[in-house]
Amino acid sequence: MASARPPCRVGHGFDLHRLEALAPEGAGRPLILGGVRIEHRLGPVGHSDGDALLHAVTDAILGALGQPDIGELFPDSSPKWARADSAIFLAEAVNRMKSAGFELGNVDATVILQKPKVAPHKDAIRLNLARLLGVDASRVNLKGKTHEELDALGAGRGVAVHAVVLLMAKEAPS
Ligand code: MG
Repeated sequence: MASARPPCRVGHGFDLHRLEALAPEGAGRPLILGGVRIEHRLGPVGHSDGDALLHAVTDAILGALGQPDIGELFPDSSPKWARADSAIFLAEAVNRMKSAGFELGNVDATVILQKPKVAPHKDAIRLNLARLLGVDASRVNLKGKTHEELDALGAGRGVAVHAVVLLMAKEAPS
């Protein structure tokens, strides 16, 4: 019979936010990815700060653990999470990971954003994400892609993120 706690677990997270003109012109909040502010005339519409990268990584970790997802833990119907810093959500997922006896092997994320280009911000985002996860930056990878001008994402009307994480079981104390 397989062990109750496998040596590693994989998790996938996806998040998408509509982009609108920044307030007060529209409902967009400042564009933040991985906790890093990116100057743009549009920003995400969302209940929290709309950080799609942190949301996707949070859901990937929770998914790997087989635990409730970000929307269940931090419902957008709760005023408590209005404009919340998404680092709070990620910290909860990291705490749950540690409590379950796992550590982060690595995370690989893809940001789909037509404009502006992610590349100039990639290192800053990667380093900040590693800091929030409490791991060396070598365990965090980030890719930026456009949507080839196809559909709403390609028209610059949204930002989407895919994230995959590998969690590794920590050695049980003997
Ligand atoms: Mg989200």
